[in-house]
Amino acid sequence: MIRAYVALGANLGAAAATVSAAAAALAGIPETRLVVVSSLYQTAPVGLKHQPDFINAVSAVDTTLTAEVLLEALFALEARFGRSRSVPNAPRTLDLDLLLYGETRLDEPRLTLPHPRMHQRAFVLAPLAEIAPECLIPGRGSVRELLEACRDQRLVRLGS
Ligand code: ADP
Ligand code: MG
Repeated sequence: MIRAYVALGANLGAAAATVSAAAAALAGIPETRLVVVSSLYQTAPVGLKHQPDFINAVSAVDTTLTAEVLLEALFALEARFGRSRSVPNAPRTLDLDLLLYGETRLDEPRLTLPHPRMHQRAFVLAPLAEIAPECLIPGRGSVRELLEACRDQRLVRLGS
């Protein structure tokens, strides 16, 4: 079993409902057990500024799938929740990113691990710190310290 972390984000339609439903749907991926889901966070958009706030969360899963097959399953869930791909950082009904897959480090365009921008994003680090406070990001450092460095990024933890 490999412990993996998945980031969820949405900012179109019923974003909170979509993120909650997608997190629950992770339990339906074959050979994969949903361990925990963070609270939802309302966060400021990064990159393209003039778009609605995002709803973000992070889930931990245990899986015997390879990282590539797990990513395929995440893409399938994005499609199921109606995602249409346009430009990077654009508004989206659902974005699922594979943050960490055990200690694996990989540098392919299709799959980079750890996720190449996670260490700079409060909207990933805050929910990750909630569910895995001792987590280390291979090659980057501790989630807690990296989150300290993103204090300027606006974000609010929601009820659940
Ligand atoms: P972003 O999440 O950066 O806003 P997309 O979701 O459209 O943008 O992903 C762009 C590409 O990033 C995808 O084609 C995917 O193959 C690639 N990618 C590379 N590493 C990862 C990762 N760790 N998790 C998710 N996608 C990744
Ligand atoms: Mg993505």
